[in-house]
Amino acid sequence: MLDLWVIGAVIALATLGTLVGLLAPRYLGGASPPGFARGRYVGGLPVVLATLFPLLNPGVPLTLSDLAIPIAVCLAAGLGLLRDLRLLRRTTGLVVLIAFYLARATFGGDDPAWTTWAIEACWPPIVILSLLPASLVFEMPLLLAAVSGVTFLLFFPTQLSTPPWAALFTFPLILPPLAMLGLWFGLGKMRHLGHSGLFAIGALLAGVSLLGRSKTLLLFGLLVPAMATLFPVAAVCAIIVASYLGNELYQNDPAGRQPSRSWTLTRESVVLHSTLVFLAANFVLLLWVVNAPGWAWVSLLVLLAGTVAGFWRTFARRRRRRDISPDQVRILGVAIDPVTPDRVPDRIAAWLAGPPAFHHVVTADSLAVLRARRDPGFARLLEKASLTVPDGAGIVWAADFLGSPLPGRVPGVALVQDLSARAAREGWPVFFLGARPGVAQAAADTLAARFAGLRVAGVRHGYFPAGSAEEREVLDQVRQAGPSIVFVAMGVPRQEEFIDLLREGEWHRPVVAIGVGGSFDVLSGQVPRAPVLMQRFALEWLFRLWKEPSRLDRIARIPGFVIQVLRAKWRSGQKRQG
Ligand code: UDP
Repeated sequence: MLDLWVIGAVIALATLGTLVGLLAPRYLGGASPPGFARGRYVGGLPVVLATLFPLLNPGVPLTLSDLAIPIAVCLAAGLGLLRDLRLLRRTTGLVVLIAFYLARATFGGDDPAWTTWAIEACWPPIVILSLLPASLVFEMPLLLAAVSGVTFLLFFPTQLSTPPWAALFTFPLILPPLAMLGLWFGLGKMRHLGHSGLFAIGALLAGVSLLGRSKTLLLFGLLVPAMATLFPVAAVCAIIVASYLGNELYQNDPAGRQPSRSWTLTRESVVLHSTLVFLAANFVLLLWVVNAPGWAWVSLLVLLAGTVAGFWRTFARRRRRRDISPDQVRILGVAIDPVTPDRVPDRIAAWLAGPPAFHHVVTADSLAVLRARRDPGFARLLEKASLTVPDGAGIVWAADFLGSPLPGRVPGVALVQDLSARAAREGWPVFFLGARPGVAQAAADTLAARFAGLRVAGVRHGYFPAGSAEEREVLDQVRQAGPSIVFVAMGVPRQEEFIDLLREGEWHRPVVAIGVGGSFDVLSGQVPRAPVLMQRFALEWLFRLWKEPSRLDRIARIPGFVIQVLRAKWRSGQKRQG
């Protein structure tokens, strides 16, 4: 049955489909049909042609139920094409597919158990959905499909319960992806598969994985596509975790911080390592199923160790001093200054020794960056700042991950302490504004006791309505106190808005206003600081959540920041490719 001519015919059909798919967007509805973004491609065509081939093979006795695979692949490719032409919503396509599988289970199925129904109806849409993130990397869905196909091909003969013709359906899984990759590389035209390709490959992958009739095969069948589709997501998560490990927070000794690691995420390395890890995982399954001898497991271990070592070498480059940008670094559109905590007082001293001017220092954390994205007014306030320091592990990580590392973070509490120490030495008057009544006074007292000679120009709590007469009074109070430094601890964005009001009016001497969030609460002893170990492992947020459960909504926004950073990374990667 597996004659060479069969393979040759599938290769020919897949190649034909690939070429036609490459040309098709030009002829579908004019020069640039709306659904075909630049570089899109009708990837469903080669898969459909190759899948239809087993039907033409006279030696194969197919039942109605077995016909479900080619029919589903055609249906999926058709729905995907409509989606590419913007004639169909993605969800509608998936609902139609589920309806198809339910109908098949009802009328053509040979096992009426509801669990079988449920798996058969929902599994293909799940595989298709999880192929979508894989498609962020051009070659990934194709490579994963081909590797899965090879595994199935090797595996099927070991299973008595698998019909002998099942192997035929592994060829459309292996050959069209290889044909597409070969031709794309050969012609120098990298393409997105398009929804037609993703839907068709997903339906085929799911269909083949369900072909077996035994429990082991079902498990195997479920595992292979699951790994295929989840791997890119898992790889990105691993890189995030690993880039946290390279973070300066893990290096207590400042001397050890400089060569911390920077993380690169080029498309080629993701493809290479994903495929290696995926191959290793497939190996594990195969070796387990065939009761492989010890040496086979040893060779698997070597493959795994090599993959991990390669992963580390490629992704984690030691960061050199010159990698740290001397200019501002943009994180999701917000400019951050690459300063170390010890440099900030020097900068401020230079301003205070200079001509009369108002300077705003922003301590930006990930939530402030997120706010700037959705609130243009707040973004404009940040643009006006003289200095924006990275306050938080999230910003340092994002900078590392986006390829423009910052030297480290500048926590708000430490900044207030360092500046108070310097102010005490230089004789700068300091105003403490913000937090609940009594808290600013307690913070000022603590600092004055620690740094002898600290001149406290004034103290005021931070609870007054925006735009009120009381707010105007506070503005006058601060101006008349004549401070050199004003710490404003009223939370984001209230403190930035207040500082902007403070900027207005005549300043006859240089002054620096700094938004410092909840620093007074910590300095006054109202809120204990997280244990040092938690600070080092970037778990301060967990400690604060435990102390103040009302902060949960802020924590819940952090994954949104991570997702935005990931999207920015992919976009910049795609721009470089384009
Ligand atoms: N706060 C204030 N006025 C307000 C709201 C809040 O002074 O109208 C204070 C609050 O008591 C707390 C600080 O601002 O001390 C906000 O701390 P948080 O940790 O929430 O700051 P963020 O994380 O936003 O920088």
